[in-house]
Amino acid sequence: MSFSSLGLSEQLVRATADQGYETPSPIQAKAIPAVLSGRDVMAAAQTGTGKTAGFTLPLLQRLAENPRTGKGPRVLILAPTRELAAQVHDSVALYSRYMPTKSAVVFGGVKINPQMMKLRKGLDVLVATPGRLMDLYQQNAVRFNEVEILVLDEADRMLDMGFIRDIRKILALLPAKRQNLLFSATFSNEIRTLAEGLLDNPVQVEVAARNTAAESIKQSVYPVDQSQKTALLSKLVRDNGWEQVLVFTRTKHGANRLTQKLERDGITAAAIHGNKSQGARTRALADFKQGEVRVLVATDIAARGLDIKQLPQVVNFELPNVPEDYVHRIGRTGRAGESGHALSLVSADEGKMLAGIERLIKKQLPRKSVEGFEPTNNLPLKPKAKADPSRARGRGGKGGGNGKPGGNGRSFGGKPGGRSGGRSQNGNGGQARRSPQRENA
Ligand code: AMP
Repeated sequence: MSFSSLGLSEQLVRATADQGYETPSPIQAKAIPAVLSGRDVMAAAQTGTGKTAGFTLPLLQRLAENPRTGKGPRVLILAPTRELAAQVHDSVALYSRYMPTKSAVVFGGVKINPQMMKLRKGLDVLVATPGRLMDLYQQNAVRFNEVEILVLDEADRMLDMGFIRDIRKILALLPAKRQNLLFSATFSNEIRTLAEGLLDNPVQVEVAARNTAAESIKQSVYPVDQSQKTALLSKLVRDNGWEQVLVFTRTKHGANRLTQKLERDGITAAAIHGNKSQGARTRALADFKQGEVRVLVATDIAARGLDIKQLPQVVNFELPNVPEDYVHRIGRTGRAGESGHALSLVSADEGKMLAGIERLIKKQLPRKSVEGFEPTNNLPLKPKAKADPSRARGRGGKGGGNGKPGGNGRSFGGKPGGRSGGRSQNGNGGQARRSPQRENA
C-alpha cells in the first residue's frame, strides 16, 4: 500500500516522501480514506502511531479539492498543549509545502498581538489550544463561520486538563454543517459523551486494542525502596549505557530534585515541566535531542506532545496517579514502528497505582530486580517473573546504541529513510495552563 493508492494528491505524496515515509501506518491506512470520504471520524490512537499525518494529509486534500477565497479558517485543529499544537502545526506546514495552503498556530503564554496579526491576514488551517482560541474570539480576532472541518486531537487529554468548557463554547460557535474528527488515546465515558454530541455516524478507527500499550514497547517493573530510586536509576543509566532516556516524575519539584541528584552523580540531566519558561523547555529538549543531555526528566503535562525520534528508553521514576497517563508516558518510546523499553521503579506505597495500571492494560508486567537494590519494604504484589539481576547488569544493554539524534528510521515496516526539515520544536511560547493541580507539589 502507498500514500497515492489511498487517494492522496501528488503534492501530498511528494511531501510524505520528503519525510522519508514509505508506507502509510495502520492508522493512516484507515483514517485517510475515511477523512477523504467526508465522513466524521472517531479514532482511538496514541501518539507514535502516525495519527497527525492520518488527519492532516486528507484534510489538506479536501481543502485543495474545494478552493475558497474567504479569510478562514476553514479547518480548526484543537490540541491540549502548546507543544502539541506547535508540533501539529509543524506537520501541517511540512505536508502542505507544495500547496498554497496557509496555516498558523496560536496558544497561550505568549503575546496575543502577533497572533491577531496572523489571523487578520487570513488562513486556511488554524491549530490552537482551546483557552487562547477563546481569548482571541472574545477579542474579535477570529471568526468561525467558515470552518468546514474540526479536529479534536488528544481529546482525552484536553478533558483531563479542564478544557471541556472552552471546547463546548467553541463547538457552539461553529457552523452546524461540518466534518468532525476526534482523536483520543483512551475512551472514557466522558469522551464518549462528547463524541456522541459531536460526531454524526462516525467511521470508527482503531489500531491497537483500547487502552493497551503498543506491542512494540517492552515493559518491566523494578520493585525498589523509594530512598533507593535515584541510585538505582543512575546505575541503570550507566550499566546499560543509555544515552537518551526520558524519565517521568509525578511533580515539578520531584523533577528538579532528581535532575540535581543525577547531575551530582555525573549524569547530564535537564528538567522540563510547567514551571519552566518556554525558552528553558525548548533548550532542554534541544540539548536532549542533540545528545548533550543524557536524561530528560519530565512531568506528564510537559511531556505530552514531545516527539523525540526513536527514543529507546522511558523510565517511570514514579508511577502516575492516573493509570491512562502510564499509557501516554510509555508511548514516548517505540514510536513509528521502532521498538522501545519502558521500565518503572515502583516503591511499596505505589502498589495500588501499579495494580490500576495493570488492570487498564490488562496484563501483569514482569518484575525485575538489581542486586543490592532489593526492596526492604515489600511491594504488595504477586511477582510473575522471577528476579533476574543479570538483566540489568553489564554493558551493551538494549537501547544503548541510539543516542545520536538525526538517525531517522522513518518507515513503518519499510527501510529507514531520511527526513528533511524535521524540526518539531521551535521557540514558541507558553500556553495558559488550566489545570495546575495535575502538576502539583
Ligand atoms: P504521531 O503519532 O502523529 O505523533 O507521529 C509519530 C511519528 O511518526 C512522527 O515523528 C511522524 O513524523 C512519524 N510518521 C508519521 N507517519 C509516518 C509514516 N507513514 N512512516 C514513517 N514515519 C511516520
